[in-house]
Amino acid sequence: MKHIEEPAKKIPVMAETDVLVIGSGPGGLSAALASARQGVDTMIVERYGCFGGVITQSMIGTLAWYRSSIETVDAGGIGVEWEQRAKEMGASTSIFLYEVLDTEVFKFIADQMVQEAGIVPILHCQIVDVIMDGDTIKGVITESKSGRRAILAKRVIDATGDADVAFYAGVPYRLDPKENLESVSVNFGCSGVDMDTFLNYTLSNPSSVSDWNAETGEKEEAEFNTYLVEPFNKAKEAGEIPKDIRLESYWGNFTDAGEITNMNAIHMPNIDPTDVWDLTKAEMDGRQQVMWAVEALKKYTPGFEKARLRTIGASLGVRESRKIIGEYNLTKQDVLNEARFDDSIGIFPEFLDGHNIAIMPSTGRYFHVPYGVVLPQKIENLLVAGRAVAGDKTSHAAIRQMMCCVVTGQGAGTAAALSVKDNVTCKQVNISNVQKALEKAGVRIK
Ligand SMILES: Cc1cc2nc3c(=O)[nH]c(=O)nc-3n(C[C@H](O)[C@H](O)[C@H](O)COP(=O)(O)OP(=O)(O)OC[C@H]3O[C@@H](n4cnc5c(N)ncnc54)[C@H](O)[C@@H]3O)c2cc1C
Repeated sequence: MKHIEEPAKKIPVMAETDVLVIGSGPGGLSAALASARQGVDTMIVERYGCFGGVITQSMIGTLAWYRSSIETVDAGGIGVEWEQRAKEMGASTSIFLYEVLDTEVFKFIADQMVQEAGIVPILHCQIVDVIMDGDTIKGVITESKSGRRAILAKRVIDATGDADVAFYAGVPYRLDPKENLESVSVNFGCSGVDMDTFLNYTLSNPSSVSDWNAETGEKEEAEFNTYLVEPFNKAKEAGEIPKDIRLESYWGNFTDAGEITNMNAIHMPNIDPTDVWDLTKAEMDGRQQVMWAVEALKKYTPGFEKARLRTIGASLGVRESRKIIGEYNLTKQDVLNEARFDDSIGIFPEFLDGHNIAIMPSTGRYFHVPYGVVLPQKIENLLVAGRAVAGDKTSHAAIRQMMCCVVTGQGAGTAAALSVKDNVTCKQVNISNVQKALEKAGVRIK
């Protein structure tokens, strides 16, 4: 690749804080809330115009769709708070035992919660580099309409999903070849759906998790699931859309106004989410596939005859990219054998969805999420929260779930804040005090 020399420049420092959280998805938003609620100065920086990450950018409101059985053990904490808050505001739909968030109103709910906690918010601001002093991260370099600016911090939490900050800081990480990564998705919503007709069609063509192209068990065959593939297959058979694209829709929320607000139908493999050429291709290919999908829905799906495309996600949805190599790396055996850890920062039910494995948590089984997965190697004042935490491919199918991203976020935020208060590094923090603070905040630890 051709290179040019960038001249050195003086960069203004736009802010200083105790705890700096980069990224505001389920991992980052919960980390910032947890840190600020410990009474420590906290700032959150997000590259887009709203908080929420995949929730608000890709319209995924199904925070806890795995909760289909009363046996399911739950993590508690900030994720449940979001569900309750949305429900109180009439901004969710109750389905079985969970709430599907209204992802538009959630933009406002997140604003409110950030303000109530006293977090300093910065939107439309991307982190592009770090400021290091040996193995200590002193702050980050940002780019925004204000120009190139530095933010200094005592502790940094990387919740970018892609481990951007850890990568810039030279932390060991893993990024699998793109042909082995989870697919990316452009999600969309439709209006003008005759919901009675569509729901009747759905109920008369019942599907379950076992219809997915995934390794699963007998109990999954009994789990009803909103999975739609027939119209796309018909359009392929009719030669209306290419046969080699993966179109199958898991659909989330619907309203009385004839809207299905999220169709998760487009699945594009072979994309590296850290490569801007691949991201561009996926956004544009994805929109083409959305147009094909809507036509197929209108032609072959009862209830969709008069439907219209209403929304396309503001950003591509990414399931997997860089993952740090942590102080501890969660394994498939940990998730499937109910692992227990002394440094647990929360629990998550035995729920796996991804990497061709689908296990629903209807047994009461669960595993501990250890603090070691949010602790990167080498740098002691940096933590990672959300889907980029340390673990193997199968454990990622559990840990990437939004409620589990909140477990790592709330744990990381609490630990970062206590480490500031006690003037110790994140690695040296008193884990028993972190656990006590988390339990006080409604998180299940054991
Ligand atoms: C299509 C799709 C459907 C899914 N469905 C479900 C589901 O039904 N239920 C479920 O539980 N999980 C689901 N998941 C998984 C889940 O949504 C993600 O794993 C989860 O959102 C990851 O949370 P996160 O906080 O780590 O990252 P994200 O939600 O991706 O948030 C990262 C945030 O960081 C910001 N950011 C990134 N880089 C920078 C930077 N350099 N500077 C500043 N800001 C930055 C981003 O803009 C974003 O807001 C789905 C994922 C996808 C893609």
